[in-house]
Amino acid sequence: MNSPSAPHQESERTRAEGGNAPSSKESKIKGLKCRECGRLYPAVAIHICEFCFGPLEVDYDYAAIGRRISRSSIEGGPKSLWRYHELLPVTGEPTVGLHAGMTPLIHAKRLGKYLGLDNLYIKNDTVNHPTLSFKDRVVAVAMTRARELGFDTVACASTGNLANSVSAHAASSGMKCFVFIPHDLEAGKVLGNLIYNPTVVAVRGNYDDVNRLCSEIGGEYPWAFVNINIRPYYAEGSKSLAFETAEQLGWRIPDQVVVPIASGSLLTKIRKGFQEFEKLGLVAPNDRLTVNGAQAEGCSPVYRAFVSGKNHLIPVKPQTIAKSLAIGNPADGFYALEVVFKSKGAIAAATDPEIVEGMKLLAETEGVFAETAGGVTVASLKKLCEEGRIGRKDLTVAYITGNGLKTMEALAGALSEPISIDPTLASFRKTVNPSN
Ligand SMILES: *Cc1c(COP(=O)(O)O)cnc(C)c1O
Ligand SMILES: [Zn+2]
Repeated sequence: MNSPSAPHQESERTRAEGGNAPSSKESKIKGLKCRECGRLYPAVAIHICEFCFGPLEVDYDYAAIGRRISRSSIEGGPKSLWRYHELLPVTGEPTVGLHAGMTPLIHAKRLGKYLGLDNLYIKNDTVNHPTLSFKDRVVAVAMTRARELGFDTVACASTGNLANSVSAHAASSGMKCFVFIPHDLEAGKVLGNLIYNPTVVAVRGNYDDVNRLCSEIGGEYPWAFVNINIRPYYAEGSKSLAFETAEQLGWRIPDQVVVPIASGSLLTKIRKGFQEFEKLGLVAPNDRLTVNGAQAEGCSPVYRAFVSGKNHLIPVKPQTIAKSLAIGNPADGFYALEVVFKSKGAIAAATDPEIVEGMKLLAETEGVFAETAGGVTVASLKKLCEEGRIGRKDLTVAYITGNGLKTMEALAGALSEPISIDPTLASFRKTVNPSN
């Protein structure tokens, strides 16, 4: 499995046909399974079913995992997402992203008071290590797996944060790196790639164009595209947000979660993470768990399907300041919608001005400076409260997934100016109390 050179397309195909079945070391991973038709594949660098084109998901041996995992085994683990390694799709020791995860879960009393919620928590991934967004989780898992599969080059199609995280982790693990981004990203997100010196490719198009291009490139170059051919493993990293939430709440499942939607993967995996903890007896089941989604109105294909009661998505052309969520044709949008409907949740959408208001509200009440995606989550949370969908007593968790220092353009003109004074006490006095 650990060939030193990167796997070639043909060798992947051989593996997909069973040429290189998982070894006994891989006992917790049974393989990959098609979400649609259930066909099984070995756990290699593939992401789509050859027969029905459904997405592939990691298939675990929960009986084997259940024999090894317990609350105390987790509590005795590292202070990172790797404390849940039994439920992550890697077979050996983690090698990339050793410090990702275990971000603060904040009891948001002041924001809660404003919104009329007694039990509101903020999961604060604005301080994730090393690149200040939730993407450090998925990249830690995807790149550890990519190395296990023998790749020496990583790549991604990104709305911004993913490229930052892949670039940083490639630098620290000595892998070659190509990141593909839309040409019009925020300056902080672009610089947040360049500083690590990967090859940064700005594509004259939107994310959906970038993603389609990367699928074509992936067919020609033997690279680990973390969110394309490595996607089944990448996506599993998002479960750690649910695991940490449950553990940090004192081994409990919340009643309500509010999750931002880009491709929809994060939302579906948060539900999956809670379900796995229930299945393994690590937490008591909570059948009140309601999964809510948040989108930017300027890119809201999942929200639109939700409000029209449809179960299919119509792709849109993104136009929003929440660029990290600007996916017009979300790969997991249908599954996210399904999770929301099944849990009797809702999806809300925030306009650009509401996103800025949401960023300010979170900062002013909780001292957390989130990027635009955080503004989407807070604005959507507010709408769900106003619609009476979230009750005062509900144990509620809102996921704040990225850092505001990366999207400063969004706040242009939205904040007051500093008070300018001369370096004298008199000048200060005059400013603070002009009647003096
Ligand atoms: C990528 C991203 C998300 C959501 O990602 P999914 O594609 O839906 O899994 C949410 N917030 C931020 C800041 C992101 O960068
Ligand atoms: Zn299939």
